[in-house]
Amino acid sequence: MQPKQRILNAPVYQPGKPIDDVKREYGLTEVIKLASNENPYGSSPKAKAAIVEQLDNLALYPDGASLNLRWDLADFLGVKPGQLIFGNGSDENLLMISRAFLNEGTNTVMASQTFSQYRSNAIIEGAELIEVPLKDGVHDLEAMAAAINEQTRVVWVCNPNNPSGTIVTTSELEAFMKKVPKDVLVVLDEAYYEYVVDPEYPQTIPMLAEYPNMIILRTFSKIYGLATLRIGYGVASEELVSQLEHVREPFNTGALGQVAARAALKDQEFVISCRERNREGVKQFTDRFDEWGLSYYPTQTNFILVDLKQDSDAVFKKLLSQGIIVRSGNALGFPGYQRITVGTKEQNEKILTVLQEIVAGALK
Ligand SMILES: *Cc1c(COP(=O)(O)O)cnc(C)c1O
Repeated sequence: MQPKQRILNAPVYQPGKPIDDVKREYGLTEVIKLASNENPYGSSPKAKAAIVEQLDNLALYPDGASLNLRWDLADFLGVKPGQLIFGNGSDENLLMISRAFLNEGTNTVMASQTFSQYRSNAIIEGAELIEVPLKDGVHDLEAMAAAINEQTRVVWVCNPNNPSGTIVTTSELEAFMKKVPKDVLVVLDEAYYEYVVDPEYPQTIPMLAEYPNMIILRTFSKIYGLATLRIGYGVASEELVSQLEHVREPFNTGALGQVAARAALKDQEFVISCRERNREGVKQFTDRFDEWGLSYYPTQTNFILVDLKQDSDAVFKKLLSQGIIVRSGNALGFPGYQRITVGTKEQNEKILTVLQEIVAGALK
């Protein structure tokens, strides 16, 4: 068989190791996963109730346009319903944007290192990659603007950035948008938007009026804790949304996800409480890292990238043997580092106890 040659050059996504896999391999009964930036507090109980109610309708196709969710979310964000596009997670929105804008002879600008899917989608579409190194773990927007040329179609700004957790500020983003040509699409991937507490973080929805070449991506997978239901959304001009609609699959989001997302949206108390508990968890880590003299990137997310100055894969395996799954920095372009999702207070304490032994060289 002869698939398109270039798809074989696209890396296959390597997800965080599943809990059951680790239990089996290491003969453990208790395993904690701090690898995929999932919400340790689960999701709003209202979301679960909405799903139960929907269980009688499994035989029906979902509403392809996600109308009820669309109306609620448009109200919540203060945008028009036609400014929203829904994806099977943000991942699918990234794919739709790539499918609509990239092909051979075009290029796309992104940071190195950033979320891996921008890169794989670009390879699949045959676009050239222009990767601009992070500066101290932060998007170098000046260098990214300078890298744009005639063939550039899309620029990816992951804000906060995964895997470094850092943000670009309002003034940095505004200066950048002024430099980007009007026919180049800027994607702001804000998967961790709801976790951010830094007042310098840009509020991008009001910027859409001035910059129709911008799309904001957010998701119900992270703070809302609905990762398994796969609901992500884009906010952009109505014109851009109508262009992307041409590449959207007819029933790309399921009815269970739609009803759960609506219910979750109405429970902002849950979101606020998760954000607050997450900041306490971040402090739990940074206090200890400071004490141990370890460096880490200042995070506005629910994960932290820390430099343990030891072989990443070896540390990763030691943690696995203790029933803790994280992401090895080697897989993320940060050798020597680990990316750790902030868990509950108890989970954080557990990994910190093991890390202390690793840092001290006591765990072989
Ligand atoms: C998790 C994540 C996504 C994908 O989220 P889904 O909505 O679950 O597909 C996209 N971008 C970034 C930066 C992420 O960390």
